[in-house]
Amino acid sequence: MTSLVAIDLEWNTASRGLKVDPDLASRMMFEIIEIGAVRLDDGMRVKDRFATPVRPVLYTKLQHHIARVTNRTSQSLEEGLTFPKAWRSLLDFAGHDLVLASWGTSDPEVLISNLQFHEIKPQPAFRALNIQAVFSALAEGTSRGNQRSIEYALDFLRLDKDLPFHEALSDAVYAGRILAETLRPELEAGKDPEKLLKPFIYDPFLVSQSEERLEIEKDTDVPAYLNRRTYRCPACQNPLTGDFMEINPGKSWFAKGHCPDHGDIELLVKRARRTRTPQLQVRCRIPQGPLVVPKPPPEKERVVWTDPKAE
Ligand SMILES: [Zn+2]
Repeated sequence: MTSLVAIDLEWNTASRGLKVDPDLASRMMFEIIEIGAVRLDDGMRVKDRFATPVRPVLYTKLQHHIARVTNRTSQSLEEGLTFPKAWRSLLDFAGHDLVLASWGTSDPEVLISNLQFHEIKPQPAFRALNIQAVFSALAEGTSRGNQRSIEYALDFLRLDKDLPFHEALSDAVYAGRILAETLRPELEAGKDPEKLLKPFIYDPFLVSQSEERLEIEKDTDVPAYLNRRTYRCPACQNPLTGDFMEINPGKSWFAKGHCPDHGDIELLVKRARRTRTPQLQVRCRIPQGPLVVPKPPPEKERVVWTDPKAE
């Protein structure tokens, strides 16, 4: 049985006036200071709640921007569990075969960097679900993806905003409510929640992105050149090919690659800017959710004559 837990983390980062070893800082750019989580049942209803402050070891002074948004003081950072203890109690709460659902993909990224920084044993394992992508695809019917805020989604779905924002537990509750309301019509129609969510669940531990630069000639036929090349799956290095289409004339191209082990892969190419010789920037990415094919910009709008006297 999969355990689905909506999670929200608050984190702190480097601030002026606090000396931090740059080596350590590069291993953990953001340090978790609060964890909020809710367990969801098959109907996406909140079953249990979990919240704890976490005591930072690296960024012990609250960065001013974060202080303002979270309404906290540096002093409050001295309270709470150590990160290893907080992780242990989150696991006790969350259960096995864990899927951590969050708004966007930053929370699992930050969580993994904190787990690695603290060298947590045994090697943590969980899958991730981006509620933002579920909301965009199913509620808004767009593939616009990672842009909407929690507040926007609550308004869109006409859900109550009765809890404070930027507090880990209330943001986790909100994320759970958004997921529930987004899936409600499908669940009421008798659809299986696991099947509905499966395309949006991903492995946050995979190396999911790689980039390279290619030097080209001035007169290179870019799509033809790109179609002849081989690319590599960022996670396993399997070779990939793609049939490129132009997204932005002369500037960007897109193709869908496929890895037998990791599924569909985005191949996005952009003309590099401000380089002495013409270059292309290639990004291979395993999408964290269903692959979204970008749309070319619409044809120029036709000029329509309007009567200047009419309003
Ligand atoms: Zn692969």
